[in-house]
Amino acid sequence: MRMERMMEKIDLKPVQDAVFRELGLKEENDGACCGRWLAGGDSISSVSPIDGRPLGRVRKAGSEEYAAVLAEAREAFLLWRNVPAPRRGEMIRALGDELRRHKDALGTLVSLEMGKIKAEGDGEIQEMIDICDFALGLSRQLYGKTMHSERPGNRMYEQWHPLGIVGLITSFNFPVAVWAWNFAVAAVAGNVTVWKPSSKTPLTAVAVTKIVQHVLAAHKFPGAVASLLVGSGGEIGERLLTDRRVPLISATGSTRMGRHIGCVVGERLGRTLLELGGNNALIVSEHADLSLALQATLFGAVGTSGQRCTSTRRLFVHEAVYDRFLESLLQVYWQVRIGNPLSPHTLMGPLVDAHAVSVMQGAIRRLQDEGGRVLYGGEPLLGEEYPGGAYVRPCLAESQNRFQVVQEETFAPILYIMKFRSIDEAIAMQNDVPQGLSSSLFSNRLQETELFLSALGSDCGIANINTGTSGAEIGGAFGGEKDTGGGRESGSDAWKFYMRRQTVNVNWGTALLLAQGIRFAM
Ligand code: NAD
Repeated sequence: MRMERMMEKIDLKPVQDAVFRELGLKEENDGACCGRWLAGGDSISSVSPIDGRPLGRVRKAGSEEYAAVLAEAREAFLLWRNVPAPRRGEMIRALGDELRRHKDALGTLVSLEMGKIKAEGDGEIQEMIDICDFALGLSRQLYGKTMHSERPGNRMYEQWHPLGIVGLITSFNFPVAVWAWNFAVAAVAGNVTVWKPSSKTPLTAVAVTKIVQHVLAAHKFPGAVASLLVGSGGEIGERLLTDRRVPLISATGSTRMGRHIGCVVGERLGRTLLELGGNNALIVSEHADLSLALQATLFGAVGTSGQRCTSTRRLFVHEAVYDRFLESLLQVYWQVRIGNPLSPHTLMGPLVDAHAVSVMQGAIRRLQDEGGRVLYGGEPLLGEEYPGGAYVRPCLAESQNRFQVVQEETFAPILYIMKFRSIDEAIAMQNDVPQGLSSSLFSNRLQETELFLSALGSDCGIANINTGTSGAEIGGAFGGEKDTGGGRESGSDAWKFYMRRQTVNVNWGTALLLAQGIRFAM
């Protein structure tokens, strides 16, 4: 008997009611905010992938709301840029405390609206809390360098200033953490933000905006430091892209979306921070601890139902351990408990909607047309036990790296498995895709692991040894190369993206000396 048959029935209504009460959500919510909430026009209906039932509605921002939010954001920036950074950090610390207080309710809301399991929903809120802690420390560490001037009596240094209004465009799969990564760092850097969330997850955006508004008001700061504009990418998103008052657009989503944003914002020479699709590979060497590799593969490929930018999509296994590893993988896949993401026994919830299921089915058909072979799963799960039409069984498929479908990111739990003979061959295949986000090698052999981490190794923004492709910590700079967009968010010195660098020369001497020894006198 498959484990998924053990799926528990959970009555979602009382759970939803309690969460809505705690977070101040209603059946119909305003979707624009700049301190005050603005009504907007038509509503987006937010539907839970758990059972296909509407959770609530959010009114979309129109032209009027857009104009009001941008004008107030500009005003708020003029004030906020003048608040000392450590004081801005105190506000972020208070935000972290509020998130701690509402962690359980917010984590549940993420599960209800997006479908990830509760443990991962809670993990997403923890990520928001962690970045608040990081940003608080950062607020006292926005360091510039001092250089030695070649001119006597001159001092030279660089300093960092805020940019202005930062437009945040976010994806559905981390409906609130991506906002936090950006907001916390952008805000201590002295910027104000205007957030356009995914239309698939507007309720989580409203709930988090209510929390940050509460914190800003308690500190007597303008609410337009953290504004919200719910609306479609083509309407509200597009306005932000062409708006010269917005010097930086930080966008997380598909490569297709990022390519468009890069062009439109680039046209006005605005700045973009792009966090786009991945096609991440995990390599299992014959020198690997296979048990570790197995756990990492399962979490990487099945976690968040394969809907993480860092999900493991390609698995390269050395021929000497291929059969053994595959057999173990089939056994663990067989035991994956699929079902209601709020049940503590569930490992894999639904995909975000029925459309995602049909995209997955299309990818599997294309794989088979190209000569790939499904070894396990892939089919939609239907019937009373799986309401709403968004459940699937995760798929394992033998493939070739050159297949067109393998070269693309399908945002679903499909794992393409391939065999290799040498570590050089595995690294070459891993790099031979358009994307460059996350990568990992399982090996206990120094020559292999150091090769993987060298300039001859992984070409990705993230390279891991004996840990999987997914599940990054906030302390590092997060992002990837090639079609992943080149942006870096979150930790390390990613804050520099949100500030403008200014090089300063101060002449404290009595003569005007020119650089490079140039003489220019009458
Ligand atoms: P998506 O590209 O469909 O949408 C992302 C956001 O872009 C949404 O808010 C959408 O409304 C907006 N958008 C779309 N067209 C726009 C336009 N013309 N102008 C302005 N905004 C526009 O992506 P999705 O399905 O929500 O998310 C999944 C994708 O996101 C995957 O490709 C995943 O790999 C990627 N992702 C990347 C990272 C990363 O850090 N690299 C993190 C999470 C998700």
